[in-house]
Amino acid sequence: MSSIYEKYHLKQVINASGRMTALGVSTPRPEVVDAVTTGMNHYFEMKDLVNKTGAYIAGLLDVEAATVVSCASAGIAQSVAAVLVKDNQWLIENLHAAPLENNEIVLPKGHNVNFGAPVGTMVNLGGGKIVEAGYANECSADQLAAAISPRTAAIMYIKSHHSVQKSMLSVEQAVVVARKHNLPLIVDAAAEEDLQCYYRAGADLVIYSGAKAIEGPTSGLVIGKEQYVEWVKLQTGGIGRAMKVGKEGILGLTCAIEHYLSAAKESGAEMVAKMTPFIDSLNTLDGVTARVVWDAAGRDIARSEIKFDEATVGISTGELVSALKQGEYAIYFRGYKANEGIIEADVRSVSAAQLEIIYRCIKALVSKEK
Ligand SMILES: *Cc1c(COP(=O)(O)O)cnc(C)c1O
Repeated sequence: MSSIYEKYHLKQVINASGRMTALGVSTPRPEVVDAVTTGMNHYFEMKDLVNKTGAYIAGLLDVEAATVVSCASAGIAQSVAAVLVKDNQWLIENLHAAPLENNEIVLPKGHNVNFGAPVGTMVNLGGGKIVEAGYANECSADQLAAAISPRTAAIMYIKSHHSVQKSMLSVEQAVVVARKHNLPLIVDAAAEEDLQCYYRAGADLVIYSGAKAIEGPTSGLVIGKEQYVEWVKLQTGGIGRAMKVGKEGILGLTCAIEHYLSAAKESGAEMVAKMTPFIDSLNTLDGVTARVVWDAAGRDIARSEIKFDEATVGISTGELVSALKQGEYAIYFRGYKANEGIIEADVRSVSAAQLEIIYRCIKALVSKEK
């Protein structure tokens, strides 16, 4: 593979930051790559492929309906368009020809995030207009309901680490508000690991990113109530065409979902075993302390927390993080605590050999051995 890096003069990346779109998200397992190749090598009646794989995925997840889209962002745009225009063929083909009436999408203010692109941009693309409910730091069920007007078309909920978590209503509470006002609830769960709980909680449409937790090819998944998913599919004749998903993405994601549901995940204990020699080596460096920390959201994920005594190592953690991106390998960490002198390594996509490289690079930057 080094030839591709050489041919285009690309930087080799060691990804200790988790599933980052900026780094190519994930590396699907060989079975998924095979499914992508099979898709590439054959013709299909595409409607047939969309419908049958959708039904297959729906069966796997025990949901009414499912369809593969090009990415979660496309899923948001097409879900919004679907609830606005339903099966009105003229509106499907002329979504942006005239402003739609009753196109408001009510969203908790703390969910109006930028996940790499703004949620609101995707809602606008789908013909909707965000109306924020609550405040930057809180949104109760009552505050959500208070933002509903006769122009409201749907409620949206962004289940994500990007969203404000405190004083925020749950998906279940949002479902109650949606039911009471006879509105659909769209949940963006792009990076979430549970493919069933938000549907089971009563959401009408739930959107996932295909390459994040599921580790499929670049793609997205929309599941939900049959009628709504059918309306999402109709968008293929409208804005959906500008976000076309190919046979390779459809077959790759379908395969990835099947494996995701059945394959044993790397356990936290296995991650600890992999990172222990790395942590031990780091602890031999002056001014560096490393330890195992567990995922704050309670998932079975262990990470290496590396703490720098900036006075001893003679370099600020921010400078260290950027220096590690500048070397022969671009090494990326979870750096959101760099201002506290702490970085975290997520080892799920890192081999033991790469951990050794990371250790050597850190050692070269902080120099002194104990
Ligand atoms: C990643 C992400 C998206 C976008 O997913 P893509 O598949 O990259 O389009 C949307 N919403 C949230 C909360 C995300 O984390």
